[in-house]
Amino acid sequence: MKIMVINTGSSSIKFQLFDMANNSAAIVEGLIERIGEAKGRIKYKRAKQGDEYNKEEVFNDHKDGLELVAKLLVDKQWGVIDDVQEIDAVGHRTVHGGERFNKSVHIDDKVMNALKEMIPLAPLHNPANITGIEVAQQIFPHANQVAIFDTAFHQTMPPKAYRYAIPEKLYRDSNIRRYGFHGTSHLYVSREASSYLNIPIEKFNCITIHIGNGCSMAAIAEGKSVDTSMGMTPLEGLIMGTRCGDIDPAIPYYLATNNSMTIEDINTTLNKESGVKGIADSNDLRDIEERYIAGNDEKAKLAIEMYAYRIKKYIGAYFAALSRVDAIIFTAGVGENSDIIRELACDKLDNLGICLDVQKNKGRKKGICDLSKDNTKVKILVVSTNEELEIARQTRDVVQGTVG
Ligand code: AMP
Repeated sequence: MKIMVINTGSSSIKFQLFDMANNSAAIVEGLIERIGEAKGRIKYKRAKQGDEYNKEEVFNDHKDGLELVAKLLVDKQWGVIDDVQEIDAVGHRTVHGGERFNKSVHIDDKVMNALKEMIPLAPLHNPANITGIEVAQQIFPHANQVAIFDTAFHQTMPPKAYRYAIPEKLYRDSNIRRYGFHGTSHLYVSREASSYLNIPIEKFNCITIHIGNGCSMAAIAEGKSVDTSMGMTPLEGLIMGTRCGDIDPAIPYYLATNNSMTIEDINTTLNKESGVKGIADSNDLRDIEERYIAGNDEKAKLAIEMYAYRIKKYIGAYFAALSRVDAIIFTAGVGENSDIIRELACDKLDNLGICLDVQKNKGRKKGICDLSKDNTKVKILVVSTNEELEIARQTRDVVQGTVG
């Protein structure tokens, strides 16, 4: 079975073609960017051949972009299949599934209508995801279209974790509650860790730490999400590149009344000007780490300390929520690459049975690595995330009718 995975943004499409029959190998991956701008670009990489088609091109809309991908897939020089009809299904990364979707689904008119109804919950993401689906239906009309939601994995949270202590009617009438995001990644790394540690998923308790451009953590009990740090939107929780994470909810009111900021200004400040960027003037933790290591940079030091301390606080909170923790799992750009953040986040947690082996922790990690000291209670793992592969697997399961 061949499955195309598509992640559509407002001006971009990321794509990856998997051959599930051949060890779920990714045959092609690529990116179309700056759709609708004067000059766009397509990158199309073939895995087996190791080559790349990389060209500036004008894409008036998403359809233009996906049409070119479909052409390249069967092209004499660049093709990897004989006919686009070989693509059995298209899996769409879909950001917000609200309370309606607790698992991946086959896309029909009802699902499309529900996605449109949920636009207010994810005004930046769901419209682009809907466009991606409509375009893929036109270009791959024979293929099954499947939606995989970032929020679905967290639908197992109990009300005590997902409700906010605000008037009930705001939940009932306006859907205000914690949804959580990065569900595909939390699910993928928890499954990978359970099989690596040889603990059946229905008995596996872990804390997953997805720290990349966006950052979130999840408490997972017996394979199911029971709490997560992002909330109704991806702004809550950990400190991120440009997002503030947890702050006193009275701050927006204060800024509006004392600093004459508009709601739009406040939203931009908290989403785009905050996080490590707000503290140390760069949203890339690599730069901040370099400055931290070089020394004499108070801003970089504070940003690193705050970033790691927030993770550590959530480890403590989720430890309490879970009672027993088999593993702590770091993943995504920072989690896989930053030994400094991993070390600071796990520092002095020995009393909880969390003991990082500083030697094993050194450097960047790929695949699955165990960083814990021998014979300690809680395994500390790095598991490289692969959201596209998880989307491909779930798409296959929906098509085969075996989705959990
Ligand atoms: P992702 O969203 O998973 O692609 O993660 C991207 C982020 O990972 C970037 O914004 C970088 O800040 C971060 N990153 C990548 N490599 C490193 C590194 N060696 N040290 C710290 N952060 C890193």
